[in-house]
Amino acid sequence: MKRFWSLAVLSTSMTLTALVATWAAPAWQAAELPQVVTPGLASAPPSDAIVLFDGSSLDNWRKADGSAAGWVIEKGVMLAVTGQGPVLSKQEFGDMQLHVEFATPTVPQGSGQGRGNSGVYMQARYEVQVLDSFENETYANGQCGAIYGQHAPLVNASRQPGEWQSYDIVFRGARFDEAGKKTLNATMTVLHNGVLIQDHSEVTGITTAAMNQEGPSKGPLYLQDHGNPVRYRNVWVREL
Ligand code: MG
Repeated sequence: MKRFWSLAVLSTSMTLTALVATWAAPAWQAAELPQVVTPGLASAPPSDAIVLFDGSSLDNWRKADGSAAGWVIEKGVMLAVTGQGPVLSKQEFGDMQLHVEFATPTVPQGSGQGRGNSGVYMQARYEVQVLDSFENETYANGQCGAIYGQHAPLVNASRQPGEWQSYDIVFRGARFDEAGKKTLNATMTVLHNGVLIQDHSEVTGITTAAMNQEGPSKGPLYLQDHGNPVRYRNVWVREL
């Protein structure tokens, strides 16, 4: 061993400092290392994302009754069609990271909850409100970025109507024991246009217009039709 190290020092011209640093390093194995993921350029999906909408089709979406989604694609973006009801992802999710981009209508019409209203529901249970909250006041826990009826956003990071905005959401579903009793509330951390607006907020129960009751099952992502032609694009999920 001694002879080995002598040779190693000689052959690599390692400094004594570097050698000490090597000795001090904890043991590790390649299998313990985090998976390598290629980040997307700008807001493009990373390599391990499940892409739910890339502008090309609504194949990953359905109506509540299971029939074909009633929204339309215009110029590569998904447009909410009033009266068609929500669109739900065919795939169901538990804990996840979600990226979704939206734009509220121009010219803006209506006021308060009637202006640019839609919503992004985790598991068809818990809504992060989508609303035109740019110079449009309403109750705090109903404005854009609110977990509807429960938590106001920390700040109002809304862009102007018509501009693309983003939500990046870390969702952890509620936990239940074997008897079906809830042991932990769901939680959400939300960035709105890159700004932290929900910091591990605890969601105490389903929000208005939820389609699923609380329970241990996974659930679909659900985008709300609230009578306003809100647009969506670049929707992707990473299961956690
Ligand atoms: Mg809504």
